[in-house]
Amino acid sequence: MVDKERKNLPKAKRIVVKVGTRVLANGRSRLDPTKVGKLVEETVKLRTRGKKIIIVSSGAIGAGVGHLNLRSRPKEMPSLQAVAAVGQGILMQVYSKYFGDYEQPVAQMLLTGEDFTDSKRYHNFKNTLAALLKLGVIPIVNENDSVEVEEIRVGDNDTLSAHVAVGSGADLLVILSDVGGLYRGYYGKKKRGELIRTVERVTPEVEKLANSSFRGFGGMLTKIRAAKMATRAGIPVVIANGNQKNVLERVSAGEEIGTIFLPERRKK
Ligand code: GLU
Repeated sequence: MVDKERKNLPKAKRIVVKVGTRVLANGRSRLDPTKVGKLVEETVKLRTRGKKIIIVSSGAIGAGVGHLNLRSRPKEMPSLQAVAAVGQGILMQVYSKYFGDYEQPVAQMLLTGEDFTDSKRYHNFKNTLAALLKLGVIPIVNENDSVEVEEIRVGDNDTLSAHVAVGSGADLLVILSDVGGLYRGYYGKKKRGELIRTVERVTPEVEKLANSSFRGFGGMLTKIRAAKMATRAGIPVVIANGNQKNVLERVSAGEEIGTIFLPERRKK
C-alpha cells in the first residue's frame, strides 16, 4: 500500500532537489550531457506545472577533476579548492546551456556554513532565495568550496540541502543519488537488501542502517541525517535513484519510488 503521505506529495509546491555528483557525471568525472539533460528536462516539466524548484547541486569538484584530466581528486585542501573553483564554473555553464534551451533562467548561489549560523546572513540568504523564486528563476546552490575552511564548512551537500529546504520553507526535499533509497542489509552493485519504502521517524536504529562502506561524498549517513533535520522541520524527504526514468515526476506524483521519510510534524 502506498503511504498516505505520498498522496500529499502532488500538493508540494516548493521543492528542493539535491543532485549528487554521480547523477550528473560519468565514471571519469566528466559531466555527462545525457544525464544533465535528463535532470534539466524533468525539472522543467515540474516548473511547467507551477512548482518552484531549488536545485542543490554537487559536481563542482568532479567536473574540475574531469576538466583538468586529473587522475583522482586532490587530497590537500588548497588543490581541492582550486579544482572546485574550476569545476563550479563549468557546472554552471552546463546548467545554463541546458536550462537555456527551455528559456528557463537559473542563478548560482554559493553558500558557507556561516550563512546558516549567522542570523543576518541567514536572513539575507532567505530573502535572495525568495526573490529568485518570485522571478521564476531556478536557484542552483552549492557549497562555496573554494573559500571554505574546515571551521565554517557545512561539509556535504546532503546537509546543505536540508538547510536550504528548511530556510526556504520547502514542502518537499528530494535527494537524488545513485542508490535507490535506504536499504536494510548490505547494499552493493550486485547484491542489495530490502528497500525500505517508508521511514516514520529517524531513530538511532535507522541511522545504523546507513552502510558505512557506501562510496561517495556524504554516503547514506549524511542523507539520513539530512532527512532527520528536514522531517523535524515538517518537511517530507524522498531519497531516490536519480538515474531512474522520470524520477522527479514520479516522486512528485506520489508514486512509490525510493524511500520516503515522513515529517515529524506539520510545517508551520
Ligand atoms: N560541493 C561539492 C562539489 O560540488 C560536493 C559536496 C557533496 O556532494 O556533498 O563537488
